[in-house]
Amino acid sequence: MTDLFPAAPVPRVPVQGGRTFPVRRIYCVGRNFADHAREMGATAPASKAERGNPVFFLKPADAIVTGDADLPYPPGTRDLHHEVELVVAIGHDAPAGVLPRDAALALIVAYGVGLDLTRRDLQAAAKARGLPWDTGKAFDRSAPVSTLVPAAQVQGLDDLMLALQVNGEVRQQGSLRDLIWDVADILHELSLLFELRAGDLVFMGTPAGVGPLVAGDEFVASLGDIAVLRGRITP
Ligand code: MN
Repeated sequence: MTDLFPAAPVPRVPVQGGRTFPVRRIYCVGRNFADHAREMGATAPASKAERGNPVFFLKPADAIVTGDADLPYPPGTRDLHHEVELVVAIGHDAPAGVLPRDAALALIVAYGVGLDLTRRDLQAAAKARGLPWDTGKAFDRSAPVSTLVPAAQVQGLDDLMLALQVNGEVRQQGSLRDLIWDVADILHELSLLFELRAGDLVFMGTPAGVGPLVAGDEFVASLGDIAVLRGRITP
């Protein structure tokens, strides 16, 4: 049997040291910083006991953009927003069943920083009608991501700051200590719903300060001093 047409290439993210990370799926976490949940009009949990269940959505693997690439302003929106996020790269298949929190971090091979680009007007319209978020979140080139840093080189992840500058001005800044659901929590929660596999990326949610990007904007997203993503919005 032969394919009707050549299969699309597997999207790949460069990893420091010269290898690449082939992408299988992109999971995203919504409302994972209290200050961002509040700015979106949601109620932030007062404690871990009250946090309920995390909000998950997905983007297609080929939404990944790598390198310091220009990003064309996407169609269908008048309100493209930035959300700077920690990106977790899973390099081992999870064992069958529920993944315990204390086994979760062993699956991770690398970390990076990315943008969960959002057509905020389409997402807001979907939310208002109780409809899925796909058109607001899962569009082409909606997931730019930095070169990944091997996990073995990342010490003290919780102490790292996420930051985003647009045209030299700080728009978003947040400490990973303020995640409502930390990385081990999220991998555990994902394992209750999906089979985690090597090649899965997880966008961990954004701190406050989300806002519009327009043609001509230049952005610099950073994860402490270990990962950086630069890009520009073109017409
Ligand atoms: Mn997000």
